[in-house]
Amino acid sequence: MIMDIKAIDKQYIEYTYARADVTFVRGEGSLLFDDKGGEYIDFCAGIAVVGLGHANKLWLEAVQSQLVSLAHTSNLYYSEPCAKLAEILCKRTGLNKVFFANSGAEANECAIKSARKYAVDKGKTSTPEIICLKNSFHGRTLATLTATGQDNLHKAMFAPFVDGFVYAQANDLESVRSLINDNTAAIMFELVQGEGGVIALDKEFVDGIAELCQANDILMVIDEVQTGNGRSGSLYAYMQYGINPDIVTTAKGLGNGLPIGACMFGEKTQNVLGAGDHGSTFGGNPAVCAGAIAVLNQIDDDLLEGVKVRHDMIVSALSDCSAVKSVSGLGLMLGIEIDNAKDKVKECLSKGLVVLTAHEKLRLLPALNIPIPQLEKGLQILKEVLK
Ligand SMILES: *Cc1c(COP(=O)(O)O)cnc(C)c1O
Repeated sequence: MIMDIKAIDKQYIEYTYARADVTFVRGEGSLLFDDKGGEYIDFCAGIAVVGLGHANKLWLEAVQSQLVSLAHTSNLYYSEPCAKLAEILCKRTGLNKVFFANSGAEANECAIKSARKYAVDKGKTSTPEIICLKNSFHGRTLATLTATGQDNLHKAMFAPFVDGFVYAQANDLESVRSLINDNTAAIMFELVQGEGGVIALDKEFVDGIAELCQANDILMVIDEVQTGNGRSGSLYAYMQYGINPDIVTTAKGLGNGLPIGACMFGEKTQNVLGAGDHGSTFGGNPAVCAGAIAVLNQIDDDLLEGVKVRHDMIVSALSDCSAVKSVSGLGLMLGIEIDNAKDKVKECLSKGLVVLTAHEKLRLLPALNIPIPQLEKGLQILKEVLK
């Protein structure tokens, strides 16, 4: 029986997404299949979530075997996958502690609370302020929506927003400096503004922020929800910038399709939170963490080298397209400046290629290990559409 999923969705799902006209039913690596037997090359990877491809073997085995033995116990008790995942994250980043949540927004909520508490504990201020960047994206909860520096998302009907956020211009150090005062607890930013149009920050700007943070005991909080877990070409993008953040958040690609968020703490911030200060019922779920361990174990030098190879292939293919005005981003997180990106996304889909947008740009987020022949086939379609 073929159900009319679209009709059921329209009737029963609260309308918050303008969905594309397709129902995917199966995925295999970088291929997706719809309910009518159509096959697609996936350059979206569930918005940078399925970084190792659909039904990744080692991830699937880890999740399945953990589900069979124990799916959930709560954070009242110890759990091996959760502890081991935290150990791996700390050993590979040099950060010291991890709090697990279930999404990017929640990881950022934890970062915001921790940054505030750090400043208050130190007696610096009782009204901490966090400097964010314009055009940023940090999530949809009230605090992370407020942190998000996009006026058009701060819709009046959701007011009142959360106090304690101010916004500087990206790549303009003076604009950051001018917002610093005695209340400044943290500067929070993405190294590549993803939803904002896949814009990588300048190295000098980031170095400048690092100096300002150092000089004024301000925390540097890096949102790697999208850039993290190999997406940028290094395990975390901050590693390419050569900075030492005080807090790093991540989510999306860490779970390869299952919900997870992580807030990682450095030397200064590692003991800010105490028992009862924060929590999450599902955070650190054993099955999700077992899968995330399998994800991190596969993000090695070979995989990251492959990200660079694929990045270069995409950039070089796009250089032939006269309609492409510019290509931005790092690793396999790329923004293509082109007219009518939304229409191009539809056209790609109708030709069997799944891509997405970021603001006015077309955005590519393929799996980090997309097989080269599939990448080439996808690029062929992209070139036809963007020629
Ligand atoms: C996607 C994203 C978020 C929000 O993550 P959710 O899992 O949707 O809550 C936050 N920050 C950045 C940089 C993101 O790309």
